[in-house]
Amino acid sequence: MQTNFTPEQLQDPGVEESEKILRKCVHCGFCTATCPTYVTLGNELDSPRGRIYLIKDMLENGRAADEQVVKHIDRCLSCLACMTTCPSGVNYMHLVDNARAHIEKTYKRPMMNRLTRALLAFVLPYPGRFRLALTVAKLGRPLVPLFKSIAALKPIAAMLELAPKSVPAKSRFAAPGSHMPETSKKGRVAILTGCAQPVLRPGINEATIRLLTRLGIEVVVPRGEGCCGSLVHHMGREEAALESARRNVDVWIRELDTAGLDAIVITASGCGTTIKDYGYMLRLDPDYKVKAARVSALTKDVTEYLATLTLPAPEEPAGLSVAYHSACSMQHGQKITRQPKDLLRTAGFVVRDPAEGHLCCGSAGTYNIMQPEIARTLRDRKVKNIEATGASIIATGNIGCITQIASGSKLPIVHTVELLDWAYGGPRPEGVPAPKSFLQAAE
Ligand code: SF4
Ligand code: SF4
Repeated sequence: MQTNFTPEQLQDPGVEESEKILRKCVHCGFCTATCPTYVTLGNELDSPRGRIYLIKDMLENGRAADEQVVKHIDRCLSCLACMTTCPSGVNYMHLVDNARAHIEKTYKRPMMNRLTRALLAFVLPYPGRFRLALTVAKLGRPLVPLFKSIAALKPIAAMLELAPKSVPAKSRFAAPGSHMPETSKKGRVAILTGCAQPVLRPGINEATIRLLTRLGIEVVVPRGEGCCGSLVHHMGREEAALESARRNVDVWIRELDTAGLDAIVITASGCGTTIKDYGYMLRLDPDYKVKAARVSALTKDVTEYLATLTLPAPEEPAGLSVAYHSACSMQHGQKITRQPKDLLRTAGFVVRDPAEGHLCCGSAGTYNIMQPEIARTLRDRKVKNIEATGASIIATGNIGCITQIASGSKLPIVHTVELLDWAYGGPRPEGVPAPKSFLQAAE
């Protein structure tokens, strides 16, 4: 694609990077076929190619974002299916991140939209605040029908609907410290405890720590780590995201340079995609660019790391059928497609692939709160495809997808690592009935 930026405009590193990305796009439109918003809404401006044109026009003309650009960029899930499809290597992720930062700087959103976004940015990245908010949400649930009837309050209604009926107790595994291996030590990793996940499903990190320590890996929960920054990053709040990134980089580099680390293990693929991008995000910061690149290189999804270890023969529960939902951040963001399914198969599960596996479930960070209608349409499509596999349980590698799909399906849904922990001697994951009841159900 031809571009017409002036040399002055190209002084801005965000514009310079955007120009390079725009030049790679050849308008072929292959990406439209796999874009969930284009597939759902059928509007070119809700396709990757349409958004690329909108971004180009806005940046090239040095214009502030307007209502139309914001509408169509806000509808983008950042699922990155377009990057998997694109034959020209267009880095849509960095382009839309730049566009979102530009929108944040130049566009004044309606008041309710601003307040909702500010509330999400204030609450979600902090486990203590999030836990408190979920407790308060229970009291607000009777107001859902009222909020749903007022357009500006629909995101609040979506938030209340997604909040779990009960909040699990705080896990002792979340506290900073070291979990020593149960057998002779074969490695040492840090685990990102995360922000929303340990509140909603503490069992995921517990299963990871149990499984890894049984396999001879020391797992350290470093003091000082926090949210990876992706939630605010996707809202265009660049500085807040970079602040989170710098804090985590400091924490992990300290561990790496003292006791050493073989990997930084991530159990939420949304976080993994962002942390693997820290090197890029902090490329302009002379104090952090090298350290951030080291952190990104060391970051591994838990299934990616497990695939490098030698696993024993599984103990439980042979033959259960699992529909594997590959999160967008896993398959498109990190290109991890093989390892989770291979691990499940080796552990004795029968893995089933739902149709349209490339399409997003509608979770996408805070998307299911900010764009509840599109998110619900995508969720229902996803659930239909998953349930058509006839599997007994659903496995995935991202807490956002777990929450989203659970809100539309009666099937138990767990993190892949919870099933692996179970198969290799850990407890049965919460919500998954004993294998016997599956057998009875199948009769
Ligand atoms: S990131 Fe996803 S929703 Fe956004 S343009 Fe690409 S395919 Fe479409
Ligand atoms: S597939 Fe790639 S090159 Fe083709 S229109 Fe989409 S982004 Fe541009």
